[in-house]
Amino acid sequence: MDLWFTEDHTEYVKFSMKVKEHLFSTKSKFQKIDVIDTYEFGRVLVIDGYLMVTEKDEFIYHDMITHVAMAVNPDIKNVLVIGGGDGGVVRELTRYSSIEKIDMVEIDGEVVHAAKKYLDFTSNKLDDERVTLYIEDGIKFVKDKKALYDLIIVDSTDPIGPGEGLFTTKFYKDCYRILTDKGILINQNESPYYADTAEQMIKATKKLRKVFPIVEVFQCHLPTYASGHWILGFSSKKFHPTRDFNGERWRQIGLDTKYYNTNIHLGSFALPTYVNKMLEAET
Ligand code: SAM
Repeated sequence: MDLWFTEDHTEYVKFSMKVKEHLFSTKSKFQKIDVIDTYEFGRVLVIDGYLMVTEKDEFIYHDMITHVAMAVNPDIKNVLVIGGGDGGVVRELTRYSSIEKIDMVEIDGEVVHAAKKYLDFTSNKLDDERVTLYIEDGIKFVKDKKALYDLIIVDSTDPIGPGEGLFTTKFYKDCYRILTDKGILINQNESPYYADTAEQMIKATKKLRKVFPIVEVFQCHLPTYASGHWILGFSSKKFHPTRDFNGERWRQIGLDTKYYNTNIHLGSFALPTYVNKMLEAET
């Protein structure tokens, strides 16, 4: 009998992939966590029925959520990752010898456990000596934090359940407070294509613009996320993501990346007209 994983992208659109084996399933106190092995996308992490990470296309998302900020400010040393339980963001960050400290705050230890056991391709750098893993709510962590970070990356689930509070003005203000004067916040900022994720994208961007002087959004194309057109937020106290960008300086670092490059850095901020109109209309 054929086994398929299906995610509802909208009430009227489903996305399915054929499953080889259902490797893991548990229900933590926050969410249902599954790992499946699929014919097309390899191993896949699913949380509450929503696809999080696939072996085949995670490089796209983890490149863009990490390298854009690192290419704008070469002096990033202290980084805070909120969410990111699969470890993909930390994996990319540890490729920079200039980074001295990475705090990762993941609310659900069961996600990290599943990633360490089944998703070695993303979790293989969580034991880097620069990484400190906190299993707690990112909302509370930033509220209580005093130390400053150069970069905060919010790699969260959607604004439902435990992830909801990571899309609030209060959370963004707390992030602003614990960023240095050259600080940058990168967030998973949903998608412009379907109505519900478009509404979430507009709302998050509007809130960020109330807190940060520079707020832009950029895009990447991820086959397994709803519509394939995904948006990330770039919020900054000082640096503009394209005007203050020096591609040659990043290329000198010599990182070999599979998706990110200095042309796509600039291109990712060139948004379709309908997306610009959505975001302008709301500001
Ligand atoms: N890249 C994926 C996406 O765009 O949907 C998300 C990757 S990662 C699996 C998302 C993580 O955010 C999950 O492990 C979840 O447990 C975590 N998370 C959700 N709410 C959180 C919170 N309030 N504090 C810390 N981590 C949270």
